[in-house]
Amino acid sequence: MNPASPTPSLSGNTLRRYEHLYINGEWVKPVDGEMIESIDPATGKPWAVVAMGGAKDIDRAVEAARAAFNGPWRRTPGHERAALLRRFAELVRAAIPELAHLESRDNGALVSDMRASLNAQVNYYHWFASLADKSQGTTIPIDDSVHAFTTRPPVGVVGMIIPWNGPTMITCMKLGPALAAGCTVVIKPAEQTPVTALELARIAHEAGFPPGVINVVPGFGQAGAGARLVAHPDVNKVSFTGEGRTAMQMLRDGADTMKRFTFELGGKAPHILFADADFDNAINAATSAAWRLTGQSCALGSRVLVERPIYDRAIEAFRARAKMVRIGMPEDETARMGPQAHEEQLRKTLSYIDIAHRDGAELVTGGKRIETPGFSEGYFVEPTVFANANNQMRVAREEIFGPVAALIPFDGEEEAIAIANDTTYGLTAGLWTRDVGRAHRVSNRIEAGTVWVNTYLYMHASTPYGGFKASGWGRENGIAALDPYLETRTTIISTTGQFPNRYAS
Ligand code: NAD
Repeated sequence: MNPASPTPSLSGNTLRRYEHLYINGEWVKPVDGEMIESIDPATGKPWAVVAMGGAKDIDRAVEAARAAFNGPWRRTPGHERAALLRRFAELVRAAIPELAHLESRDNGALVSDMRASLNAQVNYYHWFASLADKSQGTTIPIDDSVHAFTTRPPVGVVGMIIPWNGPTMITCMKLGPALAAGCTVVIKPAEQTPVTALELARIAHEAGFPPGVINVVPGFGQAGAGARLVAHPDVNKVSFTGEGRTAMQMLRDGADTMKRFTFELGGKAPHILFADADFDNAINAATSAAWRLTGQSCALGSRVLVERPIYDRAIEAFRARAKMVRIGMPEDETARMGPQAHEEQLRKTLSYIDIAHRDGAELVTGGKRIETPGFSEGYFVEPTVFANANNQMRVAREEIFGPVAALIPFDGEEEAIAIANDTTYGLTAGLWTRDVGRAHRVSNRIEAGTVWVNTYLYMHASTPYGGFKASGWGRENGIAALDPYLETRTTIISTTGQFPNRYAS
């Protein structure tokens, strides 16, 4: 292990200090950065201090990534990149207890959820490794005079800009395919949750990735490292997960360098419960999809569309289920909901609860910050349900990122489809019905990148993920996961070498 590695001991309550960035295979201090506190959302208290890099640090990291890309990494065959990724995956597996704990301190995710996520990430890295030697081109039959074929070179240096809600998982879905494709990367984690990216750098170092292939520079967004990464002329592509407004700014900032982008943006998923559904399972899924991860996932189903004959029953089921949610500290293995990830997000959720009241939705349960002793300094909020909502209310149109469900009644398939698609977003959707014909008819007309039928939140490395409409550009996961990190080069070779003089008289 690199002796300057940032990992202090896990024991004790002293602030952990992360004073270095990971650039060109070394732990270095920022040139023009500052140290900021990372707040534990379960306690509202700082638990770590982390060095934030700035524009000059991004420049150093991009230079290292470019040198690595032009150096031996470019000639490293796919099966060797795969072997490195597999070694990395197994080191991540060995570090799951520690990574789960650290990400939980940074963003309040339940440790039990984090363990499950990290176990899945190990499988994702293995899946991406299996693609590393399969980015094949095609031969194109034309006639005897030429031999035409395509090859798939990597796009080059990739900037990865990560949000706070799922730092290691979202990094995994970008880092795995980028490395499998042969790119080099500069990762900028969110300023609220920088720690696990540094830990992944430590693990990558131990796995033996050559210097410069993976660089990690924590920093701010528009005001610092993020904006420089987007504008940098030597970064070929940016892969971003976060808010739509941020993506629009990135398009402006990246325009002068004709940057390529992959965007995974927000969602406002419709979760449609038809009256013929298996009611209990539908409620299991709909309540879980509304409150899981304290509502802080773009994939969750916060617009619950319920067919009128079962609407009142669904309201009662949501009310009863909300009372069963065990809210607890992230380390509590029996907890099913933890805090919001940061104070600003807590305020945002509470403000949307006010807005829903004002817009005329009827509060069924929840709606308040949890003030009981032991929780009052953390960013805990009750699982919240609004009934008699309609799709024009802001609670149904805007992404809240809190545990807030809006139950909207509908009559029949056509109205369900119309409401489901009446949104600027199009990331995910769910529907529950026992009618197989309806399952096909409705799912086929939903404008969303993923539609779950009689299940919800089923995700796998092999299933493409991304959004229609304002939910993004491009897809992650699946066999096509490498595409955003590859160019297509067409080569046409004459078999004769004859070229006529077009100017001969
Ligand atoms: P955000 O857009 O504010 O920030 C995300 C990242 O972008 C952070 O690292 C931030 O520092 C950086 N950033 C901000 N402005 C920047 C700029 N101008 N230039 C460069 N970098 C900049 O989003 P957030 O609040 O951290 O994350 C929550 C959002 O992410 C939600 O809207 C959610 O739906 C979305 N999300 C989408 C998916 C998906 O797969 N579609 C997954 C998770 C989260």
